[in-house]
Parts: sequence; C-alpha cells; structure tokens
Amino acid sequence: MSVLLLGYDVETQDPDSPVTRQFLEVASRVHEEMEAPGTFFLCGRTVENNTEALIETQKTGLFDYQSHTYSHVLFKCLWQVNDEGERLVRSGSIEQIAEEVDKANRVLKERLGVTVTGLTTPWGYYRGLGDRPDLLAILHGNGIRFVRSWMRNEKDWVPNPLEVQPFFYECQGFPDMLEFPMTGRHDCDWSRSLGFEPREFDNVQDYAEYVAGQLEIVAEHDWAWPYNQHDHSTMRHDPEMVVIRRLIEKARELRMEVALYRDYYKQRMAEKERAHGAQA
Ligand SMILES: [Zn+2]
Repeated sequence: MSVLLLGYDVETQDPDSPVTRQFLEVASRVHEEMEAPGTFFLCGRTVENNTEALIETQKTGLFDYQSHTYSHVLFKCLWQVNDEGERLVRSGSIEQIAEEVDKANRVLKERLGVTVTGLTTPWGYYRGLGDRPDLLAILHGNGIRFVRSWMRNEKDWVPNPLEVQPFFYECQGFPDMLEFPMTGRHDCDWSRSLGFEPREFDNVQDYAEYVAGQLEIVAEHDWAWPYNQHDHSTMRHDPEMVVIRRLIEKARELRMEVALYRDYYKQRMAEKERAHGAQA
C-alpha cells in the first residue's frame, strides 16, 4: 500500500525568533483539523528555545518527535551544482557529529520525555549515508534506527527521483536501519519557485496542485513518499499550510495511508522478521 509520511525539520536557532512557535501552532491546528499524524525532526537547540510550545503539541497525540541534531552540523560535504552555479558546503568533523547526535538525544529526553529513534541529517546528501558506514555506526550506537539522509541528486540538488525508495542499510552492516530518501522537489527551492521573480508557480495553491500530481505518481506505483517541510519555509511561503492540507486531502482521495515514520519503520521490520522466519 502506498504511504505518505509527513515530516518537518524544525530547526530555527535564534532564541528571539517567533517562527518555530508560530509554526507549531499552525501545524497543530492543521493536523488536528485533518486528523493526520506528523513527525517533527527537531534540532536540540530549537527544543531548548521552544520547550513549552512543543509540550503543547504533545497534547494533540498526533505527533512523533525525532532528531535533527543539536545545532544543524552537516554529516557530509555538499558540492551543489544548480542553475546559479556551484558551491561547497562543509561538513562537521566526526567528533562534532557524534557530539551533536548525543546532545540532541539528551535534550529531547530531558525536555520532552522522548527516546529518539529517528534522525534527519542536516541538508541531506546524494546516496544518503550509504558510503559512510562510520557515520551510520555513530547513529546506530546512539539508538537511531531510521534516518532521512538521501535528499539530493548527483548534483547535490533537487529533484531526487521519486523511485528512490526506503531501504535498509544491509550491505553497510546495519540491517535494522532504514533510510527514508526524500524525493521530488522540496521547500529548499521555494524561495526561487514561489518567492523571487520570475516565479515558476503563481501562488502556493498552484504549487500544492503540482505536489498533489506527484502524489498520484507515488500512489500509482505503490510507493512510499517521505515528504519534508521546514518551520521557517512554511511560515515564510505557506503560513496556512495549504500544501500540507492539499497533500493529506489528495492522499485520502487516492486511498493512501498517512503514517508516522516510526510506525512505517516498525511495519517494515515486522515484514523483514516474518520473511526471515519463513526462510529459517
Ligand atoms: Zn535542516
């Protein structure tokens, strides 16, 4: 069965910014109205700055809370090539990354009472962490069992093709770790497609229709679609969450499941264990 996995990177670091609180309010309202589950991937620092607002969202019972590291340090270097040219974005050191993962886990536990099992890497990379078993080992050692790290194509830009589907890091030695590649275009190009002239889409409704069309392709192939938005991009370009409303509505029309990443992971693990049991 095809599935839509709604996820949000909640990462605004400035303690004086109201953006995260505003985003959490609108996300709670929209998810409650639509009766749909969603996952927040949170930076530890953002949790420290918005603890009360996050506790408020826990009352809805609709959200799951996972990690987006402590302060958004990159796991892999990016060499981005797009129509504006090229740029290099540097990664943190191994020690920094290990510290970031551990610290975020501790903050989520202390502030929200949550045991983290999933993580979205800052920025996301081509082929995820498939070529970095050393980083997968750090995550696994910190209790992470699902990761969203493959977000870009071979130019470290978007779109990542829709057919890149969730998979276990078997060959890297972590058969119980699931990658959720984020495919299609995403809100990292919203400032271009929705903001500055010449805009590709006239307004956010047009963009929502484009994304709903992508969902039709996903449903047709029985695929999973890990979808992502950010707190800041949402408040800047789609403060009423028109795109998310349209996606949920469209998923229901297509009889797709709307699920938490955590639950989809459990389902895939159970299938794997059943298949293993049948072989033994
Ligand atoms: Zn991020």
